[in-house]
Amino acid sequence: MHLRPVLPFLLRASLLAGFITACDHAPPPREFNGAGAFTYLQTQVAFGPRIPGTEGHRRMAAWLDSTLAGRGDTLLVQSWGHVTARGDTLQLRNYLVRFNPGAEERVLFLAHWDTRPRADGPGSRDSTLPVPGANDGASGVALLLGVADALKRVPPKAGVDLLFVDGEDYGDFVKHPDDVLIGSKYFAQHLPPGAQPLYAVLWDMVGGKNLKIFQEGNSLLGAPEVVDLVWKGARQAGHGDVFVSSPGYTLIDDHVSLQKVGIRAIDVVHFYPDYPYWHTPDDTIDKVSAESLQAAGDVAMVLLRK
Ligand SMILES: [Zn+2]
Repeated sequence: MHLRPVLPFLLRASLLAGFITACDHAPPPREFNGAGAFTYLQTQVAFGPRIPGTEGHRRMAAWLDSTLAGRGDTLLVQSWGHVTARGDTLQLRNYLVRFNPGAEERVLFLAHWDTRPRADGPGSRDSTLPVPGANDGASGVALLLGVADALKRVPPKAGVDLLFVDGEDYGDFVKHPDDVLIGSKYFAQHLPPGAQPLYAVLWDMVGGKNLKIFQEGNSLLGAPEVVDLVWKGARQAGHGDVFVSSPGYTLIDDHVSLQKVGIRAIDVVHFYPDYPYWHTPDDTIDKVSAESLQAAGDVAMVLLRK
């Protein structure tokens, strides 16, 4: 994802005031298995960088093909060729795991599964290296897979869609905006049949140690009631210390692609400089933890059991 200028101060202050509320309920029973989800993260990192057009990407796609089959009630795969600004054709795939595909009331969770070809972030020591993507890529996928496991054990009452998008991080966000967020844009133009989600949550970089999630600017502008819902869920899950009720960065990320077609989508993201390894060669397995996945996963499950 890419950084945008922050919200005007007055707007931030008024939003902040509205979101500070107390919660004195005990946390619900824990359904999400953070340690189990962490093994999904390790598996992805072991493939090497998952850059479209590379062997790591092909191995990751093959793993998703087999891992996602039978996870939900249906699996929908979108497969297409994307021609880049340089004229290369990338073979890309989105995966949609659906629970209760006929349900009118549904929630969409998404994450990207590809990783960035160049470590060109502000904290990078070498921009010619690829990003390993332990957090930026693998963590969101691990969270969705952990959620799928919990829903397999106890099926949800409402409809739930888990979307794994490709090509989020391929190109230059400024010079070649058609070469980023590719999978979420494709999905937005090819929505699955049936009812559209009441809301959507993008889980991006949710595995970093010392996880701190501020409220993202385009989420506050585009779907403030969803931000409110998710941060209330975080307090209910006992993770009000991780989900900080104040505005942080403003980002161009996959949630914006969905907002553009009318879906109430927000971004849950631990960003630079709070996660200093963003778009660096050091976004590696030692920078992420099962505890962080646990916190984000607990919040995800609270939302789905509402
Ligand atoms: Zn990224």
